[in-house]
Amino acid sequence: MSDHTLLYGRELILREIFSSYSEDVIKQCSKRPAFTVEKGKYTCNRCQTVSRLKKGYPCRCGERCYYCRECIQLGKVRACDELISLAEPNQFQTLTIPALKWEGVLSDQQKEASLAIHESMNRNEKRIIWAVTGAGKTEMLFYGMGKALEKGKRICLASPRIDVCLELAPRLHSAFPEVSSLLLYGGSEVDYSYTQLLVTTTHQLLRFKEAFDVIIIDEIDAFPFHLNAALHFAAEKAGKNVCSVIYLTATPDKSMQRKIKYGEIKSSILPARYHKHPLPVPKGVRMKASLLEESFEQSAVIRHLNTLLAQKKKFLLFVPTISLMESLVPLFEQYFKCSRFEWVHSKDPCRKEKVTDMREQKLDFLMTTTILERGVTFEHIDVIVVDADHEVYTEAALVQIAGRVGRSAAYPDGEVTFYSRTWTRPIKRAIKQITDMNKLGIEKGLII
Ligand SMILES: [Zn+2]
Ligand SMILES: [Zn+2]
Repeated sequence: MSDHTLLYGRELILREIFSSYSEDVIKQCSKRPAFTVEKGKYTCNRCQTVSRLKKGYPCRCGERCYYCRECIQLGKVRACDELISLAEPNQFQTLTIPALKWEGVLSDQQKEASLAIHESMNRNEKRIIWAVTGAGKTEMLFYGMGKALEKGKRICLASPRIDVCLELAPRLHSAFPEVSSLLLYGGSEVDYSYTQLLVTTTHQLLRFKEAFDVIIIDEIDAFPFHLNAALHFAAEKAGKNVCSVIYLTATPDKSMQRKIKYGEIKSSILPARYHKHPLPVPKGVRMKASLLEESFEQSAVIRHLNTLLAQKKKFLLFVPTISLMESLVPLFEQYFKCSRFEWVHSKDPCRKEKVTDMREQKLDFLMTTTILERGVTFEHIDVIVVDADHEVYTEAALVQIAGRVGRSAAYPDGEVTFYSRTWTRPIKRAIKQITDMNKLGIEKGLII
């Protein structure tokens, strides 16, 4: 029999766990049907997705049952299923010693945000932290998290991206070594256990119900959380009725920017990087034709690349699609014979190795799709975006891409160039967002 604490604050499919728990435990759980049917519409109670599809599929129950396609990644929820959950009892001990063992120093703007976060956690409020790329978001959370953990509160830090979770989990574990913690994601080799601190992908939140006193969601603007109603619902469902939610982002979307502007949500804006240098402002340059239509000798992009190579300046070259990348590779191999370069995209099995090679300065440049738009740091690089007017480059993507430059205190400068044939709204808005943040940073005396 499994330990019943594994059910605290979770919402699981009864059929899947039935045989692992005693009758007594199952009795204590609350149950509800997996779907609510109303006026011919099926609403999945796990992910809140509504569907009119009534077509059933042969099911183990002997009937033909409908199932939810939206949350299928977490196991099929069928029309005949029941969802089961056991209330989270909050049995974590309060601590008399500080939970936080991190001894780093915060910048002035980090300190201010850190106190605001603490206050919001205390008052069970929502707050959004809009911090530019390279502001040092994680450290700002530590103080408030420590205080909440000392009070016995249960905390979840969720991100839409697995690599962010993988990076954060060990940092949190060493900041709060005495606190039980777990890293949970699809395909993880560690079994789920009941811990006071959980780091997880936003998808996994669908399997929780009223579990956390504090939920922190990192990169709310990143795929797939961005625009995914089921994941937003999951985050709501995973929080207790009285809880605090902290959203972190470097690039909030338009509706979030509006909410911040009109004070519809409490917010902290951090316009400066931790090293106090301004964000590099992208330069827009017009391309006459696509890279494939023009001779390399005449192309402004290629001339730019040649200059950088001659100066021995490392750079990232962003291209919008894998197919353009694949057409460019043989041309580049011929034209840049004497240079060391690689190319990466989401389907590349060697992507980690190539990124490491670039980081260790073994390459002159790395050609990439938007997979490297966020989460990666290379010292001392320039960034060039080809076809910046392509639809994959949203305002947020362009701000994130520009944010790859000048991140280290040793090399806070660098150039970002957007090459495009047309001057799109996302390009304009991205450049404006960066300029506005620099202005605000200077006004507040946070940029030197
Ligand atoms: Zn569902
Ligand atoms: Zn069935």
